[in-house]
Amino acid sequence: MKTEARVVVIGGGVVGCSVLYHLAKAGWTDVMLIERSELTSGSSWHAAGGFHTLNGDPNVARLQAYTVGLYQELEALSGQSCSLHLTGGVMLAGDETRMDFLRLTHAKCRCLGMDTEIITPSEAAAMFPLMDPSHFVGALWDPVEGHLDPSGTTHAYAKAAQKLGATIVLRNRVVELTQDPDGTWNVVTEHGTVRAEHVVNAGGLWAREVGRMVGVELPLLAMEHMYLLTEAMPEVAAFNAATGREMVGVLDLPGEIYTRQERDGVLLGTYEKACKPWSELSTPWEFGHELLQPDLDRIAPSLEVGFRHFPALENVGIKQVINGPFTFAPDGNPLVGPVQGLTNFWSACAVMAGFSQGGGVGLVLANWMVDGDPGHDVFGMDVARFGEWTSLRHTNAKVRENYSRRFSIRFPNEELTAARPAQTTPLYDIMTRDNNAVMGVTWGLETPLWFAPWTSEPKDVVSFHRSNDFSQVGEEVRATRERVGVTEIANFAKYEVTGPGAEDWLNHMLANVMPRVGRLALAPMLNDAGKLIGDFTVAKAAEDRFLIWGSSAAQIHHMRWFERHLSADGSVRVERLGMRLMGLGLAGPQSRAVLSRLVDADVSNAAFRFMDFREMEVAGCPAMVNRISYTGDLGYEIWVEPAYLRSLYLAVKAAGEAEDIADFGMRALLSMRLEKSFPTWFAELRPIYGPIEGGMERFVKLGKPAFIGREAAAREAAEGPRLRRVTLAIDTEDADVMGDEPIWARGTGPSAVAEAHGIGAPRFDAGGVAIPAVDARRDGDWRVVGWVTSGGYGHHVRMSLAQGYVPGALAVEVGDGAFEVEILGRRRAARILPEPPFDPDGARMRG
Ligand SMILES: Cc1cc2nc3c(=O)[nH]c(=O)nc-3n(C[C@H](O)[C@H](O)[C@H](O)COP(=O)(O)OP(=O)(O)OC[C@H]3O[C@@H](n4cnc5c(N)ncnc54)[C@H](O)[C@@H]3O)c2cc1C
Repeated sequence: MKTEARVVVIGGGVVGCSVLYHLAKAGWTDVMLIERSELTSGSSWHAAGGFHTLNGDPNVARLQAYTVGLYQELEALSGQSCSLHLTGGVMLAGDETRMDFLRLTHAKCRCLGMDTEIITPSEAAAMFPLMDPSHFVGALWDPVEGHLDPSGTTHAYAKAAQKLGATIVLRNRVVELTQDPDGTWNVVTEHGTVRAEHVVNAGGLWAREVGRMVGVELPLLAMEHMYLLTEAMPEVAAFNAATGREMVGVLDLPGEIYTRQERDGVLLGTYEKACKPWSELSTPWEFGHELLQPDLDRIAPSLEVGFRHFPALENVGIKQVINGPFTFAPDGNPLVGPVQGLTNFWSACAVMAGFSQGGGVGLVLANWMVDGDPGHDVFGMDVARFGEWTSLRHTNAKVRENYSRRFSIRFPNEELTAARPAQTTPLYDIMTRDNNAVMGVTWGLETPLWFAPWTSEPKDVVSFHRSNDFSQVGEEVRATRERVGVTEIANFAKYEVTGPGAEDWLNHMLANVMPRVGRLALAPMLNDAGKLIGDFTVAKAAEDRFLIWGSSAAQIHHMRWFERHLSADGSVRVERLGMRLMGLGLAGPQSRAVLSRLVDADVSNAAFRFMDFREMEVAGCPAMVNRISYTGDLGYEIWVEPAYLRSLYLAVKAAGEAEDIADFGMRALLSMRLEKSFPTWFAELRPIYGPIEGGMERFVKLGKPAFIGREAAAREAAEGPRLRRVTLAIDTEDADVMGDEPIWARGTGPSAVAEAHGIGAPRFDAGGVAIPAVDARRDGDWRVVGWVTSGGYGHHVRMSLAQGYVPGALAVEVGDGAFEVEILGRRRAARILPEPPFDPDGARMRG
């Protein structure tokens, strides 16, 4: 065995082999994969081998499309067959709510360049005649689905990697990982030590054990999963003979079952509600090429539905039941990327759909290692999206919830209930007990979403349409816009940057110039390619001390970036303040009057101006106050240590009695920011957009000394942005956008969809499969030109609003009738608003 390699990949499942292949393909050929047994010795060998491109997160869907599109190339390169069966697939809906879900999915696919189609149950039955169409009301046809041979595919990655120069070592377990002071990893195996610059954890079922070797507890858990294979069925043979085609794959949403043809019978699997974790605390090293004991009782309820929906199955014998474990993260997406706090230790774990996602995971990880950037928007699968609250027990509860809901609809206003409450602020009891708040979770923290009337239970009625929160959120917005409102804002990320080099360092990291002492600045952060990777409010508290606020869910992600760019001389320190700083947002025309009763300082507009920062006592509590508000109104953010939050809140409520101060929640805050066309991180601002595309140009100071991404941003400014963030007003009555809806425009011209994503849907020679000749992005004169990023109802301006991206050339006011936005399958007239519908000149927030 070689004793040195640039990279050691631990684990020879489909994911490890894909990482190895992509590293070698990117030119890193001094790479070595170490496998404790034979290749595919974890989950990979007993997978059902299904693949598809659909995913709730469009960015993950894009990487699934890449994976599927890779297989033919891989076969050619390796000479190893993957036994690809590109059959296409249908998703079946049994009621109108699930049809809404299919319409939304279809609309999302238009933005991704995928040619899905809504079809009738009988059209679906013509492709899968074992189903009884009377149980269904409609279906979604996806031509890019199928199945393959899991073992052949894993070996195809391995052989292709070896052809490019990579090394694979079998039957050798990695037992320990240590790191030298210079960063070199010592990968200690049963048969010697390999010194490596980088280590990749692709340990699959043992990923937690490999993580623990470096002191990291990865939030993942293996679940038992069963599928069964039937004896031969004459119906299958008859269909194949009559059509010359294989039956398509089927996902039965109401039955929560997936099924497809397997040889001359069928394969049927289910994600059962009564699901079962496997090896909850640790995975035994001696577990080998084994299956688990089947437990048909556990999946009996699903089978009963299956026999009703697919009657032919009732009379066929079961040839084999497969029960095997595979791993999930709490939200079901992979854990990929560099692990914060370690150098050159990479995660490629919790890949629950290795044959849909393995290629994409390998691609982005290789890009990240070789180029320093994943090259795609991978936040949905970034290992950094979880925080310290994801303990073993938390992960266990969330993974079980996720597994049991695998085929359930997640409504846009639906808050999941497992493992709650995890983190609370000192106001939790007041909010829930005294204020009847409906709570949601942001990054582990309970946060008030809206306040229900005392006559009803504080609970969302989940829906794709406007729901029971609509009028209450409207009340909260009106109270704030007309008088004054208060809201909790503990769910921001907060950092403190100190040291003699702090200002220079921040000037290098962020695109705006740093503020003077006592002032605030809004500052985007760019990567080397000039794309948006962060957006912060920065306060200069002293010459060598800055406070920074950003998106809560990105805080590990951002700390990892900050740490990567800190110099070793200790001249700058960055500290994540987490739950050590909590706060209240006070907003509305009377907010100054309320604040003035709580402070001894002069907070008049002349003394405490818009974008000022002060450290002062508020209601006797040591506080930092920002004169800024995400509502876009006159307002303040008041930050205190948690011990003061309760007394501060009670004092604010008492001081605002005369103005009839109202509590408002996150939903009202987000509605108000829409009225002001403020973007949000993760929706409008993501690493697929440049700062000018995102409408952030006034915060990007190209004239200041070098900062990360400046050259690329200057290029974007010179050439003009390809895309533009816009705000649209939509004619709709009972449903607003949720995000990812297509924006249609009339006539010919540019479409953002064609160029924005890099990876389009894979195109195949379908070998006789009836792929409909549709272009889902065109309809007569109309074409899909862009997509919605977020939206909702603007209760003060009384408009249904959406933000989204369209080609730069179209982002001008073109009047009524030029645009449409597709909401739940219906295209609604929309118009671009040239300026924010609320307070366009900023008089309210500055006044
Ligand atoms: C019943 C069932 C059906 C499934 N159906 C599908 C499907 O239809 N489609 C789909 O896409 N996915 C399916 N999956 C999931 C799929 O199997 C996984 O997504 C995939 O196998 C994960 O691959 P991996 O490489 O991450 O992990 P694994 O396959 O678990 O591979 C990890 C490898 O790492 C090795 N290893 C671990 N620790 C060490 C160490 N310390 N030293 C050396 N080697 C080590 C192990 O021996 C193992 O070979 C199914 C899974 C199951 C159980």
